[in-house]
Amino acid sequence: MPRKRSQPKNSPPEKSFETKPRHARKRGDGPPHLLIQRSNIDTDGCYTTRLIRKGELVAEYTGPRLTIKQADVLYDHSPRTYLFGLTDGQHVIDGEGVAAFINHSCDPNCEADEVNGRVLINAIRDIHAGEEITYDYNLYDGDPEDPSLCYCGAKNCRGSMYSEAELTRRTKAAKRKEAGKIKRNRRAT
Ligand SMILES: [Zn+2]
Repeated sequence: MPRKRSQPKNSPPEKSFETKPRHARKRGDGPPHLLIQRSNIDTDGCYTTRLIRKGELVAEYTGPRLTIKQADVLYDHSPRTYLFGLTDGQHVIDGEGVAAFINHSCDPNCEADEVNGRVLINAIRDIHAGEEITYDYNLYDGDPEDPSLCYCGAKNCRGSMYSEAELTRRTKAAKRKEAGKIKRNRRAT
């Protein structure tokens, strides 16, 4: 099921995925002002203890680089993954640093940008001390049965962590499937 991952804004949709339990991940590699704490969005989240200015680099999404095939083999049966899809369409980063703890929000205070193969989480507005760090996961290519529901609580919450484009694609695919069923039923009667 982990056929889903985050992707940078505006990157083309291709084959994809999300990863190992969070407790298996390192918490200590980030700057000292980033804390991992309980979050209302998900079990754990990443919080800042100081003001972060708009445009500031918050964290890098670090971890081993895997090919999509390697990740498929490793995480085929994982309910949850922390894979970040790179725009080359061939590789993912298996997040294991502090950035892997950053939750999704539909009204985020950061965005993930890929720069020379590195994934950087940058602040898109000022983030005050005590606030949770978030970015839009823009998930894609997930299991059709997995809605990846979003509980971010934002006014503009789209109800799912999938990207707008992915949600449109899934709605169309569901309609096609439904139309196929109707046709088959007609033939049967
Ligand atoms: Zn949301």
